[in-house]
Amino acid sequence: MLSELLATCDYIAKRNLCPATGGNFSIRQSGDKMLMSASGKDKANLKASDFVVCNFQAQWLEGEGKPSAEAALHGMIYRLSPQTQCVLHTHSIPVTVLSMLEAHESAIRFHGYEMQKTIAGFHSHEETLNLFVFDNNQHIPTLAIQLMDNWQEAHLASGLIVRGHGLYSWGNSVHEAKRHMEGLEFLVECELTRKRYQK
Ligand SMILES: [Zn+2]
Repeated sequence: MLSELLATCDYIAKRNLCPATGGNFSIRQSGDKMLMSASGKDKANLKASDFVVCNFQAQWLEGEGKPSAEAALHGMIYRLSPQTQCVLHTHSIPVTVLSMLEAHESAIRFHGYEMQKTIAGFHSHEETLNLFVFDNNQHIPTLAIQLMDNWQEAHLASGLIVRGHGLYSWGNSVHEAKRHMEGLEFLVECELTRKRYQK
């Protein structure tokens, strides 16, 4: 699974979804452990040695470097969703801008888009997909608690936004997490573009 994650990281970096060492990625390991990209790494050409093992509370266990500060949010997603195997966190311009434009909204609502069907559990453009937006907070355990409190509804989008910051998306495999990330990034970009042309 790590080689697939490394290829996905490279793809994400080449699409400029994680500039300037931003973003982080993880895959589940046995027990309450995850393999997490180390802090401060350029996300292009990541190697296996650029990942560290930590627990779901973001405490370092093995490897060179320290886990990203945002590891606790990855850990909370794995705790709340036992089937989740991979979490991808991107810092794209559309997600950053749209969540700032919608400064008082707790979710971005997508309706009428065919691409909603790229998210597991969605079967029609006629459904409404609510992508939760949490206010940014440098204290990640606080964000993790907010996610836990809203999980029942928030998990349906297979992703969430941290305002002015970026997107978390997850899936039952690296492949599914990547599909969710691309689908949500696509929907956000559509919504941002639509607003630009809206009279
Ligand atoms: Zn981030």
